[in-house]
Amino acid sequence: MRGIIIAMDGYAGTGKSSTAKEVAKALKYRYIDSGAMYRCVTRHFIDHQVDLENEGQVEVALNQLVIKFNFNEALNQSEILLNDRVMDKEIRLPEINEAVSKISANPIVRKKLVVMQQQLGTQKDIVMDGRDICTVVFPEAELKIFMSANLDIRSQRRFDETKAKNIKVDFEEIKQNLADRDHLDTTRQDSPLMKAKGAIEIDTSYLTFQEQVDKIMEYANQLIYAS
Ligand code: C5P
Repeated sequence: MRGIIIAMDGYAGTGKSSTAKEVAKALKYRYIDSGAMYRCVTRHFIDHQVDLENEGQVEVALNQLVIKFNFNEALNQSEILLNDRVMDKEIRLPEINEAVSKISANPIVRKKLVVMQQQLGTQKDIVMDGRDICTVVFPEAELKIFMSANLDIRSQRRFDETKAKNIKVDFEEIKQNLADRDHLDTTRQDSPLMKAKGAIEIDTSYLTFQEQVDKIMEYANQLIYAS
């Protein structure tokens, strides 16, 4: 039995994060939601009115923020903390959805977060999901997954998730935001979203949540128990 890194990339709303979380739970691995890290940076930049065009301001703001992950035993789930405050709804709001891809395209922001993410993976036994995890953060990961799904199906999933968090949303707005983010994430200059060499593609449009988890667990167990 050996410890591995499971890297997962894909479009928003493909079920990446919930699947990654479940796989991590089943394997007793740590789960890192790298999108939540970019969302924390976005929260901080909005709150402190950081001018993205001003490199000095961006550097200072990045040095001010501390992002940590903590496993909340009472809630039986991992949570992300920005400067010691637990972030949940505040990083899932429409204003964050609108700004996050622009802020994430900034090379100074990416450089800082990629280093943090690589440090989190030094001990293996980790599942991390995002947009550049298989291509840039862990190109040598033992298991690389690329998730895709039809835009309407993804929009419906994101709509249901957001409503469940008691955030007021409109379906068409969600769909437009996903399409805009897909465009920004796949066309940016620095580490655009793409399927990495050696990644296994899973189209989740017509898969149930359990089927997505089972597929990945099958690949993971083959690697973990390979002699
Ligand atoms: O995964 P989630 O949809 O929460 O990610 C929010 C945004 O953060 C993405 O649309 C993308 O712009 C950015 N992101 C990124 N690189 C990652 C993870 C997320 O650029 N590894």
